[in-house]
Amino acid sequence: MVIGTLASHSALQIMRGAKDEGFKTLLVCDRKRKKFYERFKLADEYIIVNEFREMLNEDIQQKLIDKGVVMVPHGSFVEYVGAKNLLEFKVPIYGNKGVLEWESDRKKEQKWFKRAGVRVPREFKDPKDIDRLAIVKYEGAKGGMGYVLVKSEKEFQEKVKNFDREKMMIQEYIVGTRFYPHFFWSPLSDENELMGMDIRYEANADGLSRVPIDLPPTYVVTGNLPVVMRESLLPDVFDLADGVVRASQELFYPGLIGPYCLELVCTDKLELFLFEVSARIVAGTNVWIPGSPYTHLKHGKDISTGRRIAMEIKRAIEEHRLNQVIS
Ligand code: AMP
Repeated sequence: MVIGTLASHSALQIMRGAKDEGFKTLLVCDRKRKKFYERFKLADEYIIVNEFREMLNEDIQQKLIDKGVVMVPHGSFVEYVGAKNLLEFKVPIYGNKGVLEWESDRKKEQKWFKRAGVRVPREFKDPKDIDRLAIVKYEGAKGGMGYVLVKSEKEFQEKVKNFDREKMMIQEYIVGTRFYPHFFWSPLSDENELMGMDIRYEANADGLSRVPIDLPPTYVVTGNLPVVMRESLLPDVFDLADGVVRASQELFYPGLIGPYCLELVCTDKLELFLFEVSARIVAGTNVWIPGSPYTHLKHGKDISTGRRIAMEIKRAIEEHRLNQVIS
C-alpha cells in the first residue's frame, strides 16, 4: 500500500511518518512546489497537477486507485477539494470522510458540541443580543481574515456591512489563553491519545502588542508555537475530547477517526471553552516532529501525528481491519 497526500500543510510530516513505518509514499503536487518537496526526498512518487482541484479529475483518481494509494487528508486538502466533493471522492481516504462536512459547517458543528455537552462561547443569534465583547465570524473568512470584534449592536451595525447573516456567527469573545490540543482517536485500540499541543501564531492579533496603535486584529495563521498545559488541567481536556468523540459516534457513525484538534480558550477561572474542532491532522502538529512530551510519556518514544497515522494503517492491515480506519 502507498500513503499519499497533497503537497502542502503537513505533507512532510505525513510522508516522514509513512516512510518510518515502511510505506511507499506519493505526493500530489503542483508544478511550482515540486522543487521544494524534492529537497526533502520523502516522496517516492509524484503526480503533478496544475492546481490541486485536479485531484478530483477522473483520470487522476483512477491513477491513485491503480497505485493502491490511501490519501491522508489535511487542512489544505479539505480547503482545495471541498468537504462536499470529498464525499464523492473514490480514492480511499484515511479517516471518516463524513466528519469533514461536520467540521466545516458551523451549524452542524454547534449541534455536535451541544451533544458533547462541552462548554462553548455563548452565541448571539441576533445582533440585538450583543451585551459583551463578541467576535463576528463568517463563512469563507480564510484564516480568520476579516473577523470583526464588537461590543454592542451599535458597533455591529457600524462595522459589519456586507456579511451574509445566514452564514455568519456572532460569538462571545473569551478572554484567556489559547490551547490547541492534538488528539488521536484510535478505533483499533479504543483509545483517545493526546499527541501534543500548540498555539497558533496569528497576524496581526499576536503582533499588535508590539505597536502603540489601535488596529483591528486579524487572525491569519502564520505559524505555530509549541505549548504544554498545566498538568491539573489535562483531565478536563481529556473529558472534553472523550465527549467530542462520543458525540461524533452518536451523530455520524463511525464518527471521528484518527487525528483531530480542539480549539480551546482557558480563562483565569481555569474554565475551558471549546470554539472549534478540526477533524483531521492540523498543521500545529508540525511543532511536534518527531514527538511531543505527551507521546513520549505515552509510548516511551517519539511519535509524530504523521507517524501515528502510518502506525494505525499498518496495524489495520495486519489485523484485517482496514475498513475501520479508511473510508
Ligand atoms: P477560528 O476561525 O474559529 O479558528 O478563529 C480564529 C481565531 O480567532 C482563533 O485562533 C482565536 O485566536 C480567535 N477566536 C475565535 N473564536 C474566539 C472566541 N470565541 N474567543 C476568543 N478568541 C477567539
